[in-house]
Amino acid sequence: MKSFKESIISKKIAVIGAGRSGLAAVKLLKKLGARHIFLSERDILSESTKVFLQKNGVQWEEGGHTSRVFNADVVILSPGVNVHNPFISRLKEVSIPIFGELELGYRFIDGKIVAVTGTNGKSTVVSLIANMLKDYIPAGNIGAPLSNFAGMKKNFVLEVSSFQLMSIQSFRPDIAVVLNIDQDHLDWHPTIEEYIQAKKRIYENQGPEDILILNLDDPITKSFGEDARSRVFYFSLKEKTNAYIDEDVLRLYIYGRVYPLVKVSELKLVGVHNLYNALASSLASFLAGAKLDDIKRTLLNFSGLPHRIEFVREIRGVKFFNDSKATNPHAVIWALKSFDTDVILILGGKEKHLDYSTLINDVRKRAKILIIFGENAPSLEKTFSGLVPLYRVNSLKEAVDKALEIAESGDIVLFSPGTSSFDMFKNYKERGERFKNEVRRINL
Ligand code: ADP
Repeated sequence: MKSFKESIISKKIAVIGAGRSGLAAVKLLKKLGARHIFLSERDILSESTKVFLQKNGVQWEEGGHTSRVFNADVVILSPGVNVHNPFISRLKEVSIPIFGELELGYRFIDGKIVAVTGTNGKSTVVSLIANMLKDYIPAGNIGAPLSNFAGMKKNFVLEVSSFQLMSIQSFRPDIAVVLNIDQDHLDWHPTIEEYIQAKKRIYENQGPEDILILNLDDPITKSFGEDARSRVFYFSLKEKTNAYIDEDVLRLYIYGRVYPLVKVSELKLVGVHNLYNALASSLASFLAGAKLDDIKRTLLNFSGLPHRIEFVREIRGVKFFNDSKATNPHAVIWALKSFDTDVILILGGKEKHLDYSTLINDVRKRAKILIIFGENAPSLEKTFSGLVPLYRVNSLKEAVDKALEIAESGDIVLFSPGTSSFDMFKNYKERGERFKNEVRRINL
């Protein structure tokens, strides 16, 4: 039987999308010896990309996908390409095999994989695990595309999204972690059910030798334990399971032995959601062979990534936090739960058609005032008017000015937008930097 490599390099291959992953796929295919590679990009290609493609004898098109892609025997998708895009649907109709860059990279790497998915906490948990497991490289959405590591004998900790999981075939992590599931990306997945099914695919190829780590307190992830063929381990803040907290100490309970880790008060990470992240990463790392000392040291030292409830500045007793990475209501709920003083919450951004009524309880309990802006401001206004005082503004600058005007000493100003940034910004990083700059520029 032909190996995957032999069968793919003899084919006409189209790569859709010329971002980092698409170009990594092209490079890998070239290295393998593929001769017929065609790159199709929706936007305009940069000059340097064109030079790279030319040098490698790769044909391309830019500014949209055309019927030229239909000449391919197989299509490789970049992670950002929506499988529901009508163009991709037409490729499926004519039965052209399609898979993602993650699958391609996976076929050519040699080493162990810990893969992390979930609605929120993926990057934080991948970073924690990469600190705990010294010989694992963070890759996928958080680092370099997996295709870059083809042929190398390395172990990986991967952040994988629902989009990437929609286009796997044989991807089978040694350890899969599902942190939590709540509504997100409903502009991408037609239903929440499809989003859940996509997340489930992280363990569809696992067998009894593999490990699946699940959040026992989340009813959806808990239910994944029922049909998994993998060995299932759980973390919880409510029950004594494989990773839990008792008498204020994080603990692992594995094969009949308890391993105390560190005290909750010793963690630098703040917020209850980060207790979940700490438990999930400790469990995954321990099962992957990390030393207890490395797990403990990481828990004691890791203080979180930028743009995740990041402290910016205190002005006249008012503390400003940047949580620009909160791109869905679930993240906002947990951000609000991280504070026990009055919060002035700045919310809003791209209209993703998410249901914000799930936020009502926590807004009522913890938010003193809401400031809303962005494309989805009208729907936010409908959901929250009458609940707490609400101001609608036109820009992030106006939001910061408003917050400063109304905040009293002791208040928290939390920028946790609850949706993506693409209505006004390039990405969540640019949005977070803008917020921080607005806060820093304030002259007292
Ligand atoms: P992801 O990579 O899944 O987007 P991040 O670690 O970047 O996750 O965090 C994204 C947002 O979700 C931030 O606002 C962060 O504070 C919040 N968050 C992180 N972990 C959790 C969790 N376990 N549950 C809920 N929200 C979380």
